[in-house]
Amino acid sequence: MKPMGPIPPWFGAENGMLLIGGCGAASLVDEAGDTPLFAYDMNIIQAQVRRFRDAMPAAVHLHYAVKANPFAPLLARMALQVDGFDIASGGELEMALEAGMAPERISFAGPGKRNDELSAAIFAGATINLESEGEARRALAAADAIGKRPRLAIRVNPDFDLKGSGMRMGGGAKPFGVDTDRAAALARTVIDAGADWRGWHIFAGSQNLDPLAIIETQAATIALAARLSDEVGASPPLVNLGGGFGLAYFPGDERLDIRPIGVVLDTALEERADILHDSGFAIELGRWLVGEGGVYLTRVVDVKVSQGETFVVVDGGLHHQLAASGNFGTVVRRNYPIALANRFGAAPAEEPVTVVGCLCTPIDRLGDKVALPPVEEGDLIAIFLAGAYGASASPTAFLGHPGPRELLLG
Ligand SMILES: *Cc1c(COP(=O)(O)O)cnc(C)c1O
Repeated sequence: MKPMGPIPPWFGAENGMLLIGGCGAASLVDEAGDTPLFAYDMNIIQAQVRRFRDAMPAAVHLHYAVKANPFAPLLARMALQVDGFDIASGGELEMALEAGMAPERISFAGPGKRNDELSAAIFAGATINLESEGEARRALAAADAIGKRPRLAIRVNPDFDLKGSGMRMGGGAKPFGVDTDRAAALARTVIDAGADWRGWHIFAGSQNLDPLAIIETQAATIALAARLSDEVGASPPLVNLGGGFGLAYFPGDERLDIRPIGVVLDTALEERADILHDSGFAIELGRWLVGEGGVYLTRVVDVKVSQGETFVVVDGGLHHQLAASGNFGTVVRRNYPIALANRFGAAPAEEPVTVVGCLCTPIDRLGDKVALPPVEEGDLIAIFLAGAYGASASPTAFLGHPGPRELLLG
């Protein structure tokens, strides 16, 4: 048997049926029409937003990174919950506007922004987080062509990284942002060109479960923002401190306690340099906000034995939930929390089973030698922590199976 990540503690059952947002998993599948299904519980997501507000200084704005989950009904609800959206493409710009987010509260980061995407963002009035000198030149030209003053921030490739992150986005050579030694000069260039300079975007890493590492990185980020602003000789309207709050996906992981982060950040902001006195601050989060609120439900199509090992074959797979297969940003495959939804909490069988998806590739493995109650054809398997980087971050066209259904609850 191999261990699995912890099932979030609030999930329970009624008559053995897993409840999601107060509804039984099987009735949710009926409501959606079929499996595979992503069910998102807005109450869990809202509780997480409240946790952020309770822990963080009131002055710190909360931004949602749309790429974590762009499901339209969820985005529309998120637009009412957070202070801004961070987007990474022209497509996400359209989704953000469609969701009702005010353009001046949208910021657009990410390498490789095409001219048409830059124009669309400037036209809408969103802020562009510039990733390079070349992008700044193209953005200024696009703004000239439209005849609109662009809102431009500088994304900085920090000279430190968030230690122990699942995905490193700073420290060393990176396709993201402008190196620290050229960031102030670029800010000066856009200011001199007449643009509305919005400040700094400094994102040092993602998926981190160590409060001390996050605290250290935030302190370094504030110090860097002050140093660069001094170099520019101007106060930044906004300092985006990045994010990095992680989720407990895997065996041995513990849920991140953000309260100490808020306490230290409060002091750090009180003691900030004069040049940041009038600046606003933001933290941008994706998975931490929405990940725990999602469950992926998939039906057992076949149970088979090969050389003594039992395989549970389901109608979903890595084409919907790539991350649970271990092929999205992880080096070693480990088990996401997984359960038998229609006998939730029942005693596990003596022998572990391996849950595989329906794709014809050996990497389509959703649970490796996991302890589940005895499984039969027609049963429902639940994979937790499926609210972020699921449906939209998986190769849905691979093998021509239907896309997943999605349902927002609460
Ligand atoms: C992906 C991304 C995020 C969100 O990351 P999470 O790990 O989901 O919180 C935030 N900011 C930027 C710039 C990103 O690229």
